[in-house]
Amino acid sequence: MSKPVMIVTGGSRGIGAATALLAAERGYAVCVNYLHNRSAAEAVVAAICDAGGEALALAGDVAVEADVMALFQSVDSQLGKVTALVNNAGILERQMRVEEMDVARLQRVLNTNVIGSFLCAREAVRRMSTRFGGSGGAIVNLSSMAAKLGGPGEYVDYAASKGAIDAMTVGLAKEVADQGIRVNAVRPGVIYTEIHASGGEPGRVERVKDSVPMRRGGNAEEVARAVLWLLSEEASYCTGTFIDVSGGR
Ligand code: NDP
Repeated sequence: MSKPVMIVTGGSRGIGAATALLAAERGYAVCVNYLHNRSAAEAVVAAICDAGGEALALAGDVAVEADVMALFQSVDSQLGKVTALVNNAGILERQMRVEEMDVARLQRVLNTNVIGSFLCAREAVRRMSTRFGGSGGAIVNLSSMAAKLGGPGEYVDYAASKGAIDAMTVGLAKEVADQGIRVNAVRPGVIYTEIHASGGEPGRVERVKDSVPMRRGGNAEEVARAVLWLLSEEASYCTGTFIDVSGGR
């Protein structure tokens, strides 16, 4: 029997890589999408294939419509029709007060985090929807505790982008619920990944962990497990819902 097919955007490192590896262990054929980091994406694919799984690394900017369409078409032809999408690709720019922030930066963050998730969800719905001859599927969006709590730190652009993800999750879930598609989201707290360094704050998790009730940062694998659960049949009656993976924050 052919394997269910998953696309993980931004699967080359961090939470996306952990999700791709766990998905392969659970029997999915996985497309590991990346933007720049081809060698890291290929390393994730090699680890999956060495363990007997099936995976493919595909470049593509989720914020660019033509890239997203090409990505989904390549997956169709090389792995089969997608039944699970993890909208994981996201960016965090360096901490900055609102009075310093320009519109170009806000647009960059919204382009990747919101428009990227929208474009991928739209392509997924076109393939999964029972209305268009698909057999259904599930989508998980990576939100953030920043959608509910803001910071910690000065990232109003990022908080706004993740608030939009929360609203899109609920809106899309209701729209496609009768088409065999479930849409949910995970809100990580502070997780040990490179995103904090790209946000200009290496060591950030160590600095903020005392504000976490469990007094530690989370690991990418702890987020991946929640993502996989929401995609699985165990969550068959969950749509438009959220799991906070935040150590109690
Ligand atoms: P990382 O910075 O570790 O990884 C980001 C991934 O996204 C990389 O694989 C990167 O590809 C990819 N990417 C970035 N921009 C694009 C794009 N335009 N098109 C395609 N791929 C892209 O991030 P995390 O693993 O930490 O975060 C994953 C998700 O979880 C994000 O949505 C983030 O906002 C969210 N999150 C993370 C938290 C944390 O503490 N880590 C907390 C809350 C939410 P490449 O390697 O090629 O550059």
